[in-house]
Amino acid sequence: MRWVSLRGDCIEGRVPWGYRRPMTDAETLRSALLGWYDANARDLPWRQAPTPYNVLLSEMMLQQTRVDTALPYFHRFLDRWPTLADLAGATEEQVVEQWAGLGYYRRARFLHRAAVAASDLGGLPNTVDELRKLPGIGPYTAGAIGSIAFGLVTPLVDGNVERVLSRVDDRGADPRSKDGRRELWGRATELVDPERPGDSNQALMELGALVCKPRNPNCPSCPWETLCTGQYRATELPKKAPRKKPVPIREVAAIVRGPGGWLLGRRPTGGMLAGLWEPLRVTPHDGEGTLPAAERALLEGAGLRGHANAIVGSIVHVFSHRRLTLDLVAVEATGAPTAGTYADARWTSPEDVALSSLAKKAITAADVPQTVLSFAADSDGH
Ligand code: SF4
Repeated sequence: MRWVSLRGDCIEGRVPWGYRRPMTDAETLRSALLGWYDANARDLPWRQAPTPYNVLLSEMMLQQTRVDTALPYFHRFLDRWPTLADLAGATEEQVVEQWAGLGYYRRARFLHRAAVAASDLGGLPNTVDELRKLPGIGPYTAGAIGSIAFGLVTPLVDGNVERVLSRVDDRGADPRSKDGRRELWGRATELVDPERPGDSNQALMELGALVCKPRNPNCPSCPWETLCTGQYRATELPKKAPRKKPVPIREVAAIVRGPGGWLLGRRPTGGMLAGLWEPLRVTPHDGEGTLPAAERALLEGAGLRGHANAIVGSIVHVFSHRRLTLDLVAVEATGAPTAGTYADARWTSPEDVALSSLAKKAITAADVPQTVLSFAADSDGH
């Protein structure tokens, strides 16, 4: 039996009276967890056919994303590219387009690069070390593919597992700290069932998703209710140092509409939101007004001169480290666009191109009847 202090530190071998209570042994936890999983696991498509390709697809999509959101994308990807080789044969742009709306577009690019690299090897490798060498495959994804698709006895730790294991053992360490990570991966390793590694890993994640939720854990329904040492302060766990606040930034977008639709640009490769379409935008120079900045966005992004009429809205969009305030300016322009700072620019319908979430938000906010835009222009004195 191992012991922990009330702060969650492991103090094995030193057991003074009245201060410690035991951590539950791994076998007891595993057995209760697998029994619960067998009765409660959701029937998800990648569980029905846990091929290496299906697991790769689902795991890349599920990072930072809810199952309900990822499901239609999973089906659409499989319809379009039924095998790893099919996906490897697509272009990165096609994969990013298909990913549009799912967010965190780096995942789409890594998925494609991993598919190309694995396809060159003849398929996804069946060891964790080899999986880790593929682009975008970290310890979590390698653990998922290894255990679920190949039956390797190997652990994984994602946000759900961090939370569940921090609570069941009443751990005080920040899971993002070096010690915290080491402790959690160690405990996760103990909990992998040697006969059913994929199921025991999925069961841990499922428990976090369905029962041991961040804000309202349902302890009475938990298979670990009588085994869990941290439920008395569950919502305080895991203990995480506060993240830095996102840095505020401001940009200006040119909202240009004409008979051919909206004037949109496709972001160049290599940067944020690469390959996705959006209203042309720039960062204002020091002292530059909002309307001139919008005209510059048009000139630099599409090679067109236009007349900015009025600010028609403003949206806020939070990226992981930045909080963008985007001012939307109605600009009048005509003519054939040329690619400038964007990879491409054209008059088009937003339904016909892959938009980023930011672009969708901007277009929705700016999509008001032309008469309202005219009124706004008049009232602004331009
Ligand atoms: S008993 Fe409660 S806090 Fe503990 S693992 Fe289960 S749901 Fe989470």
